[in-house]
Amino acid sequence: MTDATNKTGSCLCGAVRLTAINPSNKVGACHCGMCRKWGGGAYMEINCGTDISFEGIDDITVHNSSSWAERGFCKKCGSHLFYRLKESKQHMVPVGLFDDHEDFVFESQVFIDRKPSYYSFSNKTKDMTEAEIFAMYGSP
Ligand SMILES: [Zn+2]
Ligand SMILES: [Zn+2]
Repeated sequence: MTDATNKTGSCLCGAVRLTAINPSNKVGACHCGMCRKWGGGAYMEINCGTDISFEGIDDITVHNSSSWAERGFCKKCGSHLFYRLKESKQHMVPVGLFDDHEDFVFESQVFIDRKPSYYSFSNKTKDMTEAEIFAMYGSP
């Protein structure tokens, strides 16, 4: 029996599948330079906390992207799978991986002052600048 509050997803080729236990339905976007370098644009993610499991872990490659976080991707198709905080093991999972998108709400944008001027989202969201993020969470 599957719990209706769990969400499943996969990479593009299907080699990696994931199940998040009762994740948030709030979509966040990160405009920082590392996320844009990694994915080619803003990183749109769901905070899945630590309650997440992966199948096909032999096909996951983890890139050590900073002293505080690492980024996982499928080594067969290149799909991005997570941004993971090393200390807390919180997983931010790209919203596009999930099978069902019905109840997602685009809620927040971070590093809004790092967003280049050639795009902007029209959604009404809670936005934070780099200085506001560091004031709230401490400098990395
Ligand atoms: Zn794949
Ligand atoms: Zn970022």
